Amino acid sequence: SKRVAILTSGGDAPGMNACIRAVIIACQKANYTLIGYKHGYNGLLQQEYISLSLDSTHNLIQQGGTILHSARCEEFKTREGVFKAAKNLDKAEIDTLIVIGGDGSFRGAETLGEEWDGQILGIPGTIDNDIGGTDATIGYFTAIDTAMSSIDKVRDTADAFERIFLVEVMGRNAGFLALNAALSAAADYVVVPEFFESPDVEVTKIVSQIKAQRALKGPVSFIVVVAENVWPNGLNGLTEALQHHHINDVRPVTLGHVQRGGSPVAQDRLLATTLGEFAVSLVGSDITNIMVGEVNQRPVTVPLPKTWENAKPLNVARVDAMLTLMNERYNNV
Ligand code: ADP
Repeated sequence: SKRVAILTSGGDAPGMNACIRAVIIACQKANYTLIGYKHGYNGLLQQEYISLSLDSTHNLIQQGGTILHSARCEEFKTREGVFKAAKNLDKAEIDTLIVIGGDGSFRGAETLGEEWDGQILGIPGTIDNDIGGTDATIGYFTAIDTAMSSIDKVRDTADAFERIFLVEVMGRNAGFLALNAALSAAADYVVVPEFFESPDVEVTKIVSQIKAQRALKGPVSFIVVVAENVWPNGLNGLTEALQHHHINDVRPVTLGHVQRGGSPVAQDRLLATTLGEFAVSLVGSDITNIMVGEVNQRPVTVPLPKTWENAKPLNVARVDAMLTLMNERYNNV
């Protein structure tokens, strides 16, 4: 019988708990022992772990966050840290380590695989969806929903005062979350790294759209969704750039960490459950140092380096056509 360990690492995401639940149940069925390291790789270095059994699964599927807690861990980025982790895994007689996290966590897992003989399986958990080899990551769908309803609310107040709002959406260095939130909330403009030309080009487009819209309709609200880490100096930089064009009634809103929280939507629960079950089905096989993912509704295994090597293209059907619908009041008049 196998001994399996699981941890959650890096940015937390809704659905991590649903995935832990699936792993617990699948391990129980296979008669594997399961422990959970706490606080990401820190728990592995401090030997801080709990045993996970069916007692832990009640209501877990609907809880945001992660019961194992997550963290960053500087020590694990050092050779000594990785050696220590490998030694601790051997001490705990672990056969398989399951890491739920993002690309940083997978880089760490890959390094660990160079020092440790056991089996390592990654599961993608991040709201950013910036992981190669899988169509989606656990937490992404919930975050789109959260960002979308936040933008809906901003629209209400923007309409009331006929104001311009800039809304910053998370996503690390990828535009998945910002683009999908902007499209589903019918924002007027979206700035994402994948289409970003230069601040000058973007600001010229934004200003001309605002002016055209106002020339036709008088004062109207205008919402620009901006992915984080794109605009130099963030929303302040964009606010200043607009001021240079005499557009002064601008309000910046940074959605921030609310996007990481909340009860997972069904799609994230289903992905979490599928991937958790699939990972456990690989325990004991010679497949290792991989991430499990889903492509076209089929589970796949992806060598860990492939998860961060190539930037994944925005997987939105007909992006260009969708973008023309964003500023519909301007386009239709
Ligand atoms: P995410 O997994 O969400 O991308 P981070 O990038 O913060 O989050 O990574 C989480 C943790 O993974 C880091 O705190 C560190 O312990 C480990 N890690 C990240 N990058 C590396 C690396 N290049 N080598 C070893 N460990 C890493």
